[in-house]
Amino acid sequence: MKLLVIGSGGREHALVWKLAQSPHISQMWCAPGNGGIAGERLRGNNALVECVNIGAEDLPGLLAFAQEKKVDLTVVGPDNPLALGVVDLFQEKGLRIWGANKRAAQFEASKAFAQDFMERHGIPTARAKVFSEPAAAKAFVAELNGRCVVKADGLALGKGVLVCTSIQEADQAIDEMLVRKTFGAAGARIIIQEFLEGVEISLHALCDGKVAKLFPTSQDHKRALDDDQGLNTGGMGTYSPTPFATDAELEQIERAVLGPWLKGCATEGLDYRGLLYPGVMLTKSGPKVLEFNARFGDPETQVYLTRLENDLVELLEASVSGTLANIDLKWSSDAAVCVVMASGGYPGSYARGKVISGLAEAGALPNTKVFHAGTARRGHEVVTSGGRVLGVTARAKDLPGARDAAYAAVDKIKFDGAHFRRDIAARALRPGRS
Ligand code: AMP
Repeated sequence: MKLLVIGSGGREHALVWKLAQSPHISQMWCAPGNGGIAGERLRGNNALVECVNIGAEDLPGLLAFAQEKKVDLTVVGPDNPLALGVVDLFQEKGLRIWGANKRAAQFEASKAFAQDFMERHGIPTARAKVFSEPAAAKAFVAELNGRCVVKADGLALGKGVLVCTSIQEADQAIDEMLVRKTFGAAGARIIIQEFLEGVEISLHALCDGKVAKLFPTSQDHKRALDDDQGLNTGGMGTYSPTPFATDAELEQIERAVLGPWLKGCATEGLDYRGLLYPGVMLTKSGPKVLEFNARFGDPETQVYLTRLENDLVELLEASVSGTLANIDLKWSSDAAVCVVMASGGYPGSYARGKVISGLAEAGALPNTKVFHAGTARRGHEVVTSGGRVLGVTARAKDLPGARDAAYAAVDKIKFDGAHFRRDIAARALRPGRS
C-alpha cells in the first residue's frame, strides 16, 4: 500500500512512525513533514519516508500529488485541512482518505455547533450560551458572576479561549472578540461557558460512522511553565494512562457521552469516520465535555501510539470502511510519558535555526522515541524550526519509570534556549486529585 500523511508536527511524526511499522506499507510520503519524519524508514522494506513540499492546507496540491502517485490511503493529521473539506474533496475524486469530513469536522471548527449538539442530545457539558452581540453576552457573564470561559466559535490556533475570573475580565474578553475582532471571523460568534472546576483529561475515540472505540486516558499539560503557570500552549507534555479517571467514570463517559453522541450523529445524518477527541472535566457532579476536537491530539498521539499494539493501518482502514466493530484495540499495560522541548520564548516569539545536538544519543536509549515537531534538516544537522521542537517520549512498566526515562533522554538533547517543563506526570504521582 502507498500512504500519504498530511501534516508536519509531532502528532504527524508519531503517526508516520507507527504507520511505518505496518507490513502493509510499501511507500509513504508526508506533506509537508519535518526533519524527523524525513529520517523514518518503513519496517517492511527499509524504504525512507519522503517529505514532499506541499502545505497541509494546499488541497489542490495534495489531491494532484495523491492522484499522480496513486496513493491508496491518505491520513490527515491536523484540523485545518479537515475543516476545509480535504476528506470530501478526495472522496469526490474516488480517493481513500482517513479523517472527519467537513460536516463532521464542525465539532471542532465551530464550538457553537458542538455546544448546540451537546444540548440537543443531552451530553453533559458546561452551562453555556452562544452570542454575537456584546450586550447580551455581558448580561450572561453577570449571571455567572464573571467566573466563565469566553471562546471564539471558530478555529483560532488554540488561542481563542480566555479563562476569566471576574466580570471585568470577561467583559474585556467579549470586547476583544466581538468588538475589536482580534480573532477575525473565528470570533464573530462567541460561546461563553461557566467555569468548571475539576481534573481535566483527554479522551480519544476512533470512529467508523457507527461505533466509537475509546482509547485509554491521557492528560496534557497546557501551560508553559511548571505547576501550571504561564501562558497556554499547544501542549507541553502528556502521559498515559492517568490515575484520575476511575473505571466507573470511564464507563459513565461511554454511557453518557459517547452513547448519546453516536445516537445524535445517526439522527442528524453525520457520518463521523475519524478520531473524536473530547476534552473532559471530571467535576464533582460527573464528567463534563469542554470541547470536541476532530483529530488526534498533539502531544497525546505520541503517548497513545507508543502504547498501541494494533497495526495502525488496519485500524484506520476499518475506520474508513465502517468495520471497526470487528476489531479490539490492544494497548500495552506500560505507561508512556512525552516531554515537549520547546524554543525559548514559546508560545510567544522565538528564534529558529538553532542546531540540535544529542538526538542520536537520546534515541538510542531503550524504549525511547524522540518525535520531531518543529525541526528541519540543514545539511547533516537538525535545526529548530518551530515553537514546539521535540516530543521526547518513553515507555516503561509504570509511570515513574516512564517519566524518569523520558527525562533521561531530554537531558541528552541540547539546543540554544531549549525550554521544557520538569513536572510532566508529576500530578499523577501525587496522592489525591489535586
Ligand atoms: P478548549 O479549547 O475549549 O478545550 O479550551 C482550552 C482550555 O481552556 C481547556 O483545555 C481547559 O483547560 C480550559 N477550559 C475550557 N473550557 C473550560 C471550562 N468551561 N471550565 C474550565 N476550564 C475550561
